[in-house]
Amino acid sequence: MTMGAIRDLKALTEYAREQVETADVLLAAHEAAELGLCRCGRPHPCDERRQGVERRDYYAQIVGDAS
Ligand SMILES: [Zn+2]
Repeated sequence: MTMGAIRDLKALTEYAREQVETADVLLAAHEAAELGLCRCGRPHPCDERRQGVERRDYYAQIVGDAS
């Protein structure tokens, strides 16, 4: 592996880690509340939560693969 590739991988890992943190914040705002509703007031899980879970899984995999 070249030095440039290692640097790119490191940058990608850092980016992925930031995305996981951002997704965690989003998911915390879209947790299940009472009456089967999301905290945002829509049925749980709402679209944001579903997309957030997918994004988090995707980037967590990149972080996990690189470490
Ligand atoms: Zn929500």
